[in-house]
Amino acid sequence: MTTTLGTASADPGEVDTGRLEVGETRDGSPFGLPVAVVNGAMSGKTLYMQAASDGDELNGVGVIQRVVPKLDPEELAGTILIVGIVNYHAFQVAEHRNPIDDTKMNRAYPGNENGTSSERIAAATFDIATQADLVLDLHQGSTSRMIDEVRVRCGSRHRLHGKCLELARAFGCGYVLDQKGPDGQLARAGPDEGVPTVDPELGGAVGWDEESIQKGVEGVFNVLKHYDFLDGEAPLGSQTRARGFDQYGAPAGGLVTLEQELGSRVSAGDVLFEVTTPFGEPKETVTADSNGILWRTRRLPQVATGEYVCSVATDIDEF
Ligand SMILES: [Zn+2]
Repeated sequence: MTTTLGTASADPGEVDTGRLEVGETRDGSPFGLPVAVVNGAMSGKTLYMQAASDGDELNGVGVIQRVVPKLDPEELAGTILIVGIVNYHAFQVAEHRNPIDDTKMNRAYPGNENGTSSERIAAATFDIATQADLVLDLHQGSTSRMIDEVRVRCGSRHRLHGKCLELARAFGCGYVLDQKGPDGQLARAGPDEGVPTVDPELGGAVGWDEESIQKGVEGVFNVLKHYDFLDGEAPLGSQTRARGFDQYGAPAGGLVTLEQELGSRVSAGDVLFEVTTPFGEPKETVTADSNGILWRTRRLPQVATGEYVCSVATDIDEF
């Protein structure tokens, strides 16, 4: 059966790329999101993946740019639908939010085809997501520094919680954040429509981070194997799961020196960071309130009072 996505159309055993038109830019030109269809020679499930829902999160774009040329539709059972760049307007200007409506795309799902710029793009991509059996929404910790993890956002009481956890484990970054997300996230709206959806968060970078991109490429192939799109076994290793976060802000302005490595275990009372003057004079020392894992930190050393410095994941277990 021929599978079509925008102008991309592929018969079994074929790959095609094209555009999915979603509106017009300010000069009246039509614009479309770059799309790809990989139609396997054998029948199977449908996977939808998308990248750059946040316009400055480019690691997912790197994953798709590397994964698609490696896929042989003759060896594939099932179909892969891809939107390579979701947040069209933000991507053009390398910003996080859509500059047309100053909205974060991942608060706009399931979208509205007659709504704001972001809601229209969300609706167009949600339409594809809900045709799939599984969804990967490739994100990263924006331009901050963050470990590679997969987020399960439906909440532990959701009927698809177990299926979303399985998808996160199959992706296999090693770390999973299992915490109900805010309204408007694709990883919440997808499960509400019965589609297991997770949000791999591939590190954090300005531009591309090759290590995180490689983890994402492996994650996609692990998912393709686990759900029988491809022959072979996914490793399905045990994952370290966090179910809470403590966020730490700067108690004083100045320069931050972090005392812990990303991903390291911290105990309550351990020093997380110090703030000094520009001349190295100590101003404040901040310690961990509880045990956990240093999950995310700011990238720039300078802080104002109250400004975000780091997050410690708490309530840790293995699954
Ligand atoms: Zn994001």
